[in-house]
Amino acid sequence: MSFSELGLSEAILRAVSERGYTEPTPIQKQAIPAVLSGGDLLAGAQTGTGKTAGFVLPILHRLSAAGVNAPTGGRAPIRALILIPTRELAAQVEESVREYGKHLKLNSMTMIGGVNINPQIAKLRGRVDILVATPGRLLDHVQQKTVDLSHVEILVLDEADRMLDMGFIRDIKKILLLLPKQRQNLLFSATFSDEIKTLADGLLNKPAMIEVARRNATADKVSHKVYPVDRDKKRPLLAHLIKEFNWHQVLVFTRTKHGANQLAEYLTKGGIPSLAIHGNKSQAARTRALSEFKDGSLQVLVATDIAARGIDIIDLPHVVNFELPNVPEDYVHRIGRTGRAGQTGEAVSLVCVDELKLQADIERLLKRELPEEIVPGFEPDLTIKPEPIQNGRGSAPGGRGQPRGRGAPGSSARRPAAPGGEANGNRAPALHRSGGRHR
Ligand code: AMP
Repeated sequence: MSFSELGLSEAILRAVSERGYTEPTPIQKQAIPAVLSGGDLLAGAQTGTGKTAGFVLPILHRLSAAGVNAPTGGRAPIRALILIPTRELAAQVEESVREYGKHLKLNSMTMIGGVNINPQIAKLRGRVDILVATPGRLLDHVQQKTVDLSHVEILVLDEADRMLDMGFIRDIKKILLLLPKQRQNLLFSATFSDEIKTLADGLLNKPAMIEVARRNATADKVSHKVYPVDRDKKRPLLAHLIKEFNWHQVLVFTRTKHGANQLAEYLTKGGIPSLAIHGNKSQAARTRALSEFKDGSLQVLVATDIAARGIDIIDLPHVVNFELPNVPEDYVHRIGRTGRAGQTGEAVSLVCVDELKLQADIERLLKRELPEEIVPGFEPDLTIKPEPIQNGRGSAPGGRGQPRGRGAPGSSARRPAAPGGEANGNRAPALHRSGGRHR
């Protein structure tokens, strides 16, 4: 199936082809006709599936086909509202809106926190057809009466599960009250908790439902590798691997903002140009780091999960888990940035004795064991005892730094239960996996 069969206008097809896409992804094949039909949509899809174009393209089509009816004497209204959990992702989605809509006469705007509100207020005085916003800053504008949402025809909640995780549910409810009752609603979420189902039930009217497979979790395009190592040797091991294999465009995940800063400094001192991005950095600093990373002048970008959410880089060759995430689904989100669009990618994890339970959780989710390799000179010391994992305060808004939803360890006979940030009195024996896989 080609894009031209989906019913999109010529101007949009031209932009898509200029972007280099030849064939719609599975989510696009299903979402585009569903959105074009004007009905509500509930879509199960995560970053990396092409979901952004899945809703942006048909929205552009619908808005441009219907024409703009500026009220006489008044300014043209905001007609589509796209709510996004994080600033980076909002900026990227709006960039997609501009790119796919470059042959159309529609205006868009990013509305995010962390930057001066005044230029946003000035921009809102002009014409904005499509508003891409994070909930907090949107409500700031609502309070200042600088935004009018009373003519919104299409609402998108993107990454709805993340929004709930980040504690945005109240904000979302407030925003919903400001929208016209008659409108099209699109909800995208990678997971479907009871909370998401409740939100969807209240929001959507007879939605079309589509779900696409997690693209990278099972994709053979991504090779996984675990390097068992002592916790205090992780930094030298990472520097060693980057140099040894001459890795470029390496996205490294740490659990905390502080850890991200320290690691970026360490690598930079060792001659590997690195920068950290996380919520404490100014928007300008984050944007600069991202663009240097994308153009290849920055070798390593160190990020926390929240900050890295949605980093949109095609064909990112290496994703490194400097620390494993507390929530196994986050592993899938993290590696979703590699092995895209048919390219091969490598997901590397540096795992110390504290994280064996997290590794077991991930393996259970992926239904496979992650291949391990010990690097000579970095052999783990089997006498080291596991310690509780420090999550760092504020590393994840809404309590996401805390483990949640994890079951009992799958193979506790083989592996000691590593404390994962929970109150943990039962120190596990000093084994780094007794199953003999660590040779
Ligand atoms: P998303 O899931 O929206 O974050 O998109 C994931 C990545 O896939 C982005 O880098 C897009 O630019 C890219 N992409 C989206 N649609 C296509 C397509 N039809 N063909 C190739 N790449 C695509």
